[in-house]
Amino acid sequence: MKPYWVKTHWFIKKLFPGYIWSVKSTKKTVYLTFDDGPIPKITEWVLALLKENNIKATFFCIGDNIEKHPQVFEKVVSEDHTIGNHTFNHINGWHTDNKIYFKNIEACRQAIIKRTDHDSKLFRPPYGKISHSQTKEVRNLGYKIVMWDVLSADFDRYITPEKCCENVIKNATNGSVIIFHDSIKAFTNLEYALPRVIKYLKENGYSFGTLA
Ligand SMILES: [Zn+2]
Repeated sequence: MKPYWVKTHWFIKKLFPGYIWSVKSTKKTVYLTFDDGPIPKITEWVLALLKENNIKATFFCIGDNIEKHPQVFEKVVSEDHTIGNHTFNHINGWHTDNKIYFKNIEACRQAIIKRTDHDSKLFRPPYGKISHSQTKEVRNLGYKIVMWDVLSADFDRYITPEKCCENVIKNATNGSVIIFHDSIKAFTNLEYALPRVIKYLKENGYSFGTLA
């Protein structure tokens, strides 16, 4: 069995109501999110595809990648996508001391502020792993913690690109927060799945929103 669920179970959502799993909506709106960028070529490929389809999305950026690839980051910002915090070093909350964890989030926040003049209050914990006490503190700092409803599993090199595409098409519904990765690791699956997912959702009457 795979160590993840493609569709977040309602029970998990009920058990952890302090996280955003999906947006309560009767409208046919979905929310595309991209984690782990910005990465040259890959993030730019995503941006071009989104532009072509007139879609705005939410990018949960790694602070270290913002520092390494500031021009790519600025492109994401200038094309009016929403930016979220994904820590500076992509650290796992379950294995990290709280003080170090909060410092890492703050370092990412500073990297974002430096280039946007905008203080992002969206946070997605790497691997979706964050402890109870970390959750409490991060929320006290004013962040909304965003998880997901549909996992494309584009990062999984043991699935085919077709399966990655199907993961989203079969599970997306009104208000779904869908997660992809603008990373090197995910690109084989992403390159195949993303254009097809967008095409399918558009043909089925969905529009695309950004998280706020
Ligand atoms: Zn990540």
